[in-house]
Amino acid sequence: MQKIQNYINGILVAPNSGTYIDNYEPATGKVYGLIPDSDSYDVELAVKAAKNAFPAWSTTTVTERSKILSRISELIDKHLDRLALAESIDNGKPVWLASMIDIPRAASNFQFYATAILHYASGAHAMANKAINYTLRDPIGVVGCISPWNLPLYLFSWKIAPALAAGNCVVAKPSEVTPMTAYLLSEICIEAGLPPGVLNIVHGLGHSAGNAIVSHKEVTAISFTGGTQTGAQIAKIAAPMFKKLSLELGGKNPNIIFADCDYDKMLATTMRSSFANQGQICLCGSRIFVERSIYEKFKNDFVEKTKALVVGDPNEKSSKMGAIVSKAHQQKILSYIQLAKEEGGVVLAGGHAQQLEGRCKDGYFIAPTIIEGLDYNCRTNQEEIFGPVVTIMPFDTEQEVLMYANSVKYGLASTIWTSNISRATSMSQQIHAGIVWINCWLLRDLRTPFGGVKASGVGREGGFHALDFFTEPKNVCIEY
Ligand code: NAD
Repeated sequence: MQKIQNYINGILVAPNSGTYIDNYEPATGKVYGLIPDSDSYDVELAVKAAKNAFPAWSTTTVTERSKILSRISELIDKHLDRLALAESIDNGKPVWLASMIDIPRAASNFQFYATAILHYASGAHAMANKAINYTLRDPIGVVGCISPWNLPLYLFSWKIAPALAAGNCVVAKPSEVTPMTAYLLSEICIEAGLPPGVLNIVHGLGHSAGNAIVSHKEVTAISFTGGTQTGAQIAKIAAPMFKKLSLELGGKNPNIIFADCDYDKMLATTMRSSFANQGQICLCGSRIFVERSIYEKFKNDFVEKTKALVVGDPNEKSSKMGAIVSKAHQQKILSYIQLAKEEGGVVLAGGHAQQLEGRCKDGYFIAPTIIEGLDYNCRTNQEEIFGPVVTIMPFDTEQEVLMYANSVKYGLASTIWTSNISRATSMSQQIHAGIVWINCWLLRDLRTPFGGVKASGVGREGGFHALDFFTEPKNVCIEY
């Protein structure tokens, strides 16, 4: 039984309460580890450690900070196999996926910000013959980073790396559903020589450990990725305390397919944008709108390919899809499939839990599911499901599909498939989303702004946007 520990002031420690939460392996349904059930006392220790470390860390040269972040990146690469296996056991995703995407990207996040900070500059504004203004960008102090379970180390590091690069000290909490790679990261930080207190990782539940981070008066900025409802709760606490807030929240993304697209590329990519990571990526295109002239062809090809997708043991290379992250989430997804049927939807593929044999017989699997025959404005098409469930709907005109696409409360990502560049450009301007992919999906350049509009969040991560968030501008005006 693997017992995880908190990482506070440079050492691994048990939670003050001495109590632990069970950690389940979703592929087997069995408890395989214990997670600290931390509370405000542990968070208090972490904040104290971060506060004490801040004067030295914030005045360390950027070259030195860059070196340490690079070392962390190299160690993630060095431990790739171990981390990928841990991520798979904890989350249910195939090992090959964690090895190809999650862990390399976590290493890239540290490497990216190790170099980005060397090039981060602030502005100067001259007032002719009178004065010069220059703007300092200072680290904020102690910041809180809270992340979800779908891309555990990938998203955890996406926040921590820029926060540390900018000179802040961090109190971070990974999801209690998938804490293992964050724990392994604490071992890596010790090995990399990160000074004590610079990064503190407190494990535990959202309403206790998470809430204690958000409510702590010395934590002056919160970077959060997770559900929209949780984001709203966090904002309610943080806003009256005037904390800086970055919120990356849920999505219900449209995948819009025109008849003039590169069909084979679209179909292959749509398989991924529908079912990669068991459909548990905030950027997945869960509402698929297809121009009527190719609707039947697309439907037949998509259903055939989906039925052939292998859902299996995450350890097997042949498994294209692994387990859903938890029993509770599996039940939530199944309840949405039931709702879709009640709303008049017809299940064309999947639509049920998938029973495996042997080691995984009690795991939480769901067959990839395609549903048609639903209105764009029913609950199934308006609420985030966050699983391997997509709906397909025909459309006739650009204006009609734009209305469908923009009808949801969310506005995270969108995909448009067409070879007509004028149409693609015009639709990108009109679509309510922070990210538009044209003839591709999840093609990421880490320098670009990342985030959503409407209920999908506030602020942007990525590139210098994250460094702007994790620094406070101070303008100095000198009259001469
Ligand atoms: P969640 O909101 O339940 O939990 C996210 C994190 O917040 C966890 O660490 C949790 O412990 C913590 N938390 C929960 N309640 C809290 C509280 N009251 N105070 C402080 N912290 C609290 O989300 P989840 O189920 O882990 O993740 C799935 C959601 O995340 C989906 O909605 C998905 O769309 C979203 N997501 C968004 C992005 C993005 O970049 N926009 C990326 C990945 C996931």
